[in-house]
Amino acid sequence: MEQREVTSINLARLLKEGGTARAAGVVREAFHVGEEHFPLQGEANWKVAVSAVGGQEYWLSGEVEGVVLMECRRCLKPTPTHIHAHFQHLLRYQEGLKEVVFHEEEEEEYYTFGLPDLDLLPFLTEAFVTEMPYTVLCEEGCKGLCPVCGADRNLVDCGHEVGLSHPFTGLKDLLNPARHM
Ligand SMILES: [Zn+2]
Ligand SMILES: [Zn+2]
Repeated sequence: MEQREVTSINLARLLKEGGTARAAGVVREAFHVGEEHFPLQGEANWKVAVSAVGGQEYWLSGEVEGVVLMECRRCLKPTPTHIHAHFQHLLRYQEGLKEVVFHEEEEEEYYTFGLPDLDLLPFLTEAFVTEMPYTVLCEEGCKGLCPVCGADRNLVDCGHEVGLSHPFTGLKDLLNPARHM
């Protein structure tokens, strides 16, 4: 269990003898996509299996499960959101290829790889992030931030009326700051 943080699977034996190779582990802290990062609460657990399906073809299937912190769409509070994603991909072995390459041909999508150590992090990240909802609420009745002063209306009653927000509402407060004291 010492390799639990390594997000790759060694396929050397599978490539030679066929059958199925399995691996499992954890991802800590966050998933990253370009500049964006998706912070995790605790660890995300993953497991995969790669099976020889004949010729140079292999079937990768796996799952990844964890809790990501997403901003509440109303009050921006980090909100734990449980994600459980499954994924399946066709792989083709191409000896000597240094990196994993995605191919799309007519109806078929597959990845080519050439090294026995297959990096799983891109697959785990894609599956996890794709499964995330577009937006979340910290709770059903989240009151959100006050459009006038920015206060978290779940925590404080700033006294501003909702629905009266227009460009001059804030201006009026600036001109007459004592009004809300
Ligand atoms: Zn909220
Ligand atoms: Zn307010």
